[in-house]
Amino acid sequence: MDYHLRCIECNKKFQNDSLYTCPSCGGLLEVAVDVSSADFSLDGKEIRVWKYSSLLPVRIKPVTLHEGGTPLYEIVSSKKTDLYVKHEGLNPSGSFKDRGMTVGISKAVELGKSMVACASTGNTSASMAMYSARAGLKAYVFLPSGKVALGKLAQAMMHGARVIAVRGNFDTALRIVREICVRKDIYLMNSVNPFRLEGQKTIAFEIVDQLGYCPEAIYVPVGNAGNISAIFKGFSELKEAGYTDTIPKMIGVQAEGANPIYRAFSERKETIEPVENPETIATAIRIGSPVNARKALKAIYESGGRVIQVSDDEIVQAQKLLAKQGIGVEPASASSFAGFMKDDGEFESAVCIATGNLLKDPEEAVMVSEKPVEADPDIEVIERLL
Ligand SMILES: *Cc1c(COP(=O)(O)O)cnc(C)c1O
Ligand SMILES: [Zn+2]
Repeated sequence: MDYHLRCIECNKKFQNDSLYTCPSCGGLLEVAVDVSSADFSLDGKEIRVWKYSSLLPVRIKPVTLHEGGTPLYEIVSSKKTDLYVKHEGLNPSGSFKDRGMTVGISKAVELGKSMVACASTGNTSASMAMYSARAGLKAYVFLPSGKVALGKLAQAMMHGARVIAVRGNFDTALRIVREICVRKDIYLMNSVNPFRLEGQKTIAFEIVDQLGYCPEAIYVPVGNAGNISAIFKGFSELKEAGYTDTIPKMIGVQAEGANPIYRAFSERKETIEPVENPETIATAIRIGSPVNARKALKAIYESGGRVIQVSDDEIVQAQKLLAKQGIGVEPASASSFAGFMKDDGEFESAVCIATGNLLKDPEEAVMVSEKPVEADPDIEVIERLL
């Protein structure tokens, strides 16, 4: 497949795959792919990331752990919408980050890199550690100290990444890792890396593959804003290649305490003002200065979508409602459903992206759930407790 990198600001084209941002204007890059190479049918069969390899810009045998192919659950809601939840928490490391990582790590290998790094609120590091282990690359993870959910930290550690807990928030850790990557020739795996987003666009492919049609709206939790941009790109490519006639409205959902994209959208702006001290129970979207804000805002405006903000309370309520239907997710992942519930139900069909697994943040789950009852091992006493 033919592709090149293109600056989203000045439109310049580049053939050098190791760039992350535009050397002439500093803008974000995207991978412009030739959609005429698309060679798959959306027949609901053998769904996973590499089913769509004809639109994925990798030239080697990919590093894969069988990511993608996540279930699309129909769920009961009080609104008139046909509603589905795509459970990305059922990817190998437990989040959608694996879709980006299988492509990003394959690109690292293709470029001959031996070291990769990322700043992370947790899931990127868990996924990167896993895929680097698989590929035999050295992984460096920069985490905001004391702010990463236990499950994610455990994964990064067990899969052998070198973990550096930076005293500061995610935005600070990202600034540092970007500088370190330049100094040490380490390949950067944050979503500023355009190849990661290429993997994540397969969420759009799978939704149409599974539903057999293009839904009217997609609700996506927004942190660093890569995923919503990637999903929009996926739908745009499907339309360009003639698989669908429409593109869903992209509806971003942010936490009230970490809402720079919401604020920009409310004033119909195309750039954000960073939120200085982002705070929310949904640690995966606790980001004040989203790197992909420009791409995300374009996706939202071009698709006729919008941005909703939700409180931590609403996030926890949504998490519990999903849990009641057998869908276990971490707090950030529930924000898409929380956003849907606040919305007016104007759509006939919608998909909420549930981004990560419940087991990622066991401490939060225990904190917001009913506590176990202690009892002596006495049948009669215990019977009374049921
Ligand atoms: C990374 C992540 C997000 C945010 O995705 P962005 O691409 O940074 O906007 C949301 N939820 C979970 C569980 C994540 O891991
Ligand atoms: Zn440029």
